[in-house]
Amino acid sequence: MSAQSLARQWATSQDGATSEPTQFASQGIALEDPRLFRQLAYVNGCWVHGEGGREEAVFDPATGERLGQVPWLEEAQIDAAIATADAAQREWRKLRVDQRGELLDAWYDLIRAHKEDLAMLMTREQGKSLDDGRGEVEYGASFVHWFAEEGNRAFGETIPSHIPNAALGTVREPIGVAALITPWNFPLAMITRKAAAALAAGCTVLVKPAGETPFSALALAELAERAGIPAGVFSVITGEASEVSRQLCDDPRVAGLSFTGSTRVGRLLLKQCADSVKRVSLELGGNAPFIVGPDMDPEEAARAAVDAKFQTSGQDCLAADRILVHDSLYEDFLSHFARIMKQLKVGNGQVKGIDLGPLIHRDAVAKAQTIVDDAVERGARLIHGDQSMAPGPNFFMPVLLADITPDMRVWREETFSPVAGITAWHDEEEVIAMANDTEYGLAAYVYTHDVRRIWQLMRGLRFGMVSVNSVKMTGAPIPFGGVKQSGLGREGGRQGLEEYLDIKYYCLGGLESASGS
Ligand code: NAP
Repeated sequence: MSAQSLARQWATSQDGATSEPTQFASQGIALEDPRLFRQLAYVNGCWVHGEGGREEAVFDPATGERLGQVPWLEEAQIDAAIATADAAQREWRKLRVDQRGELLDAWYDLIRAHKEDLAMLMTREQGKSLDDGRGEVEYGASFVHWFAEEGNRAFGETIPSHIPNAALGTVREPIGVAALITPWNFPLAMITRKAAAALAAGCTVLVKPAGETPFSALALAELAERAGIPAGVFSVITGEASEVSRQLCDDPRVAGLSFTGSTRVGRLLLKQCADSVKRVSLELGGNAPFIVGPDMDPEEAARAAVDAKFQTSGQDCLAADRILVHDSLYEDFLSHFARIMKQLKVGNGQVKGIDLGPLIHRDAVAKAQTIVDDAVERGARLIHGDQSMAPGPNFFMPVLLADITPDMRVWREETFSPVAGITAWHDEEEVIAMANDTEYGLAAYVYTHDVRRIWQLMRGLRFGMVSVNSVKMTGAPIPFGGVKQSGLGREGGRQGLEEYLDIKYYCLGGLESASGS
């Protein structure tokens, strides 16, 4: 019997776990497959309303149009969701790893087959361009494929025995139910990067997506159901963030929490998980330095820095927030950077050729402006960025600030906006100290062809990821994650699976034949 039919048989044998679609809309977001636009939570294989009648509206950040709404689940409903995830986990872990992999691969195929609709959902609820949305679908799907395979490598080990007549070793076991709390900037990939690892390991998951972008998560649930992933294995809880998170963190039936979001909320959740001593993994904020060495062609380096700064309108944990350029090419670099950034097209992500969409909401626009004002008051040069050209209230035109200094917010904070801050450096020790002068430690970029300098910088930078002469650094095979206050643990790679596995040590005594082995 195939994994799919086995899983379906199990799903239909569960109480209340029928897959009846209770609501789908053909308006709000027009899709080729309208059933991917879901406005209800998905728990234990059912599409559910909130029992208290509370709901959250979702808006298109480019136009302000109301796209729809999702319910806020109540305490008793979340409690039931945890119970069903717990019950489902006892069955899910019993599937052979290749059977789980087969279901994940079916999910992967469906995600890719619906790339256009998923990209459109993202463009409408998040604002990114359709091309960026398509890229995120491929990126997000790649984790599903990766972990479908990686599950096969959850090896234990044999330990040479120091105990007479005993065999010693370890097996790897799923931790249990995992709560996954995700942000709005990558509404799809931040879910699959966690969920695929957890499901491959034999865990079940309860996903709490960001309030701004629930529809991508719910479309993933629809496709998980179609892939035959059984009821209770992948649920999406929509609700008031602090209530849902508090309940997930407090509940001892939830064994692990994986969170991607701001450092502020990450700290809070880490404290909330202390009482039930959960496995916690945190992917938090970044404040990436982008270091340009004296041997670089200033135009080539400026082009790369523009790419690294303005992706997702700067709302990216990997955004090059502090661009540190050797003083010998500083002014040249600035003029190339200004020229290239002026070519970026700002507008509604649905329009072909748009590079920068809107920011997620008006608060983000206001924050970006205060960061620019603070820098200018403290002596930064505003080289480019005329906000009167913004095509709508949620848009922020790309800004270039030169001569930034450590006392400015643009240096200290993750701006999460298209505000580029640049300054000059002279010697290597100085630039390492400048780059490390942040509480964050997610990613750093280095641009130079000098091998000795590459090595010095790579080892001196206190960041979880260092990318040399490449803007692209992410992907399913790599251990994504930060140090310092950028987080705990890794996602992707073989390390991503570890977050969802316990080690069980065994000692089998009384085995005469095992003596001496
Ligand atoms: P956020 O405000 O921390 O929100 C992230 C998630 O936490 C959302 O689901 C949000 O729900 C929830 N949340 C918010 N306040 C909460 C509270 N008081 N208690 C419990 N949960 C709460 O972050 P964001 O603005 O969505 O995302 C941007 C941040 O994510 C940036 O700092 C960025 O660097 C980081 N990020 C990091 C990575 C990485 O891999 N390291 C990747 C992407 C993003 P609601 O939306 O419903 O409030």
